[in-house]
Amino acid sequence: MRKLCAGNWKMNGLKAEALALVRGLAARVKAEPLACDVLVCPPATVLAAVAAAIGDSGIALGGQDCHPADRGAHTGDVSAPMLKDAGCRFVIVGHSERRADHGESDAMVRAKGEAALRAGLSVIFCIGETLAERDAGRTLEVVGRQIESSLPPGLEAGDFAVAYEPVWAIGTGRTPTAAQVAEVHGHIRRAIAAKTREQDSVRLLYGGSVKPENAVALMAAGDVDGALVGGASLVAADFWAIARACG
Ligand code: PEP
Repeated sequence: MRKLCAGNWKMNGLKAEALALVRGLAARVKAEPLACDVLVCPPATVLAAVAAAIGDSGIALGGQDCHPADRGAHTGDVSAPMLKDAGCRFVIVGHSERRADHGESDAMVRAKGEAALRAGLSVIFCIGETLAERDAGRTLEVVGRQIESSLPPGLEAGDFAVAYEPVWAIGTGRTPTAAQVAEVHGHIRRAIAAKTREQDSVRLLYGGSVKPENAVALMAAGDVDGALVGGASLVAADFWAIARACG
């Protein structure tokens, strides 16, 4: 399966910075085509500018979140059809920062996923345990519950990916070992199979402090089909190095 290297820019990137970043990336991708798919998820304010700069480089564009409704009185929110209209092919839902900052439940994540699918977007569902949950030996139980409750029924493999992002690894510089990642991804794959009858063709991404220095080892872990990268996706050379490690 072709791996996916996805960059989540979070709330970073004024237009000039965003354009410099995506142009730097597009130049690298054009000079040396990659064996993986590359996706950037900038803030909504620069989606149009980034879409234009991406041009024919093959880099895909994604949103960082979407509202569960297609339109209406939801001040400040962005709908899935709006993302599609701006040139997105993907959207991230259920990121732990959304779950923490906005109190998003599994049910809300599922509703957002359904909205994204209605709009024809491919969905990256984020799941992952907190440090307290890992220390209590509850990691597999937590991610299993998140798969069961956050994914809508009837998903087909081409519609979605799942990003395993341990909350304690995001932005901290700490990562699980390759063996720990493989254990959780294997469990996630079985949970997806039980819920959707899709298994081997669903991409499972690892996210949490992926850097050029650890990307090769993390991407080689069992059942890892790509990376969701936060901080390191803001530096074109670093994100490029991680994409190369994806294959
Ligand atoms: C993320 O926010 O999805 C993420 C993985 O962040 P970082 O790479 O900075 O840990």
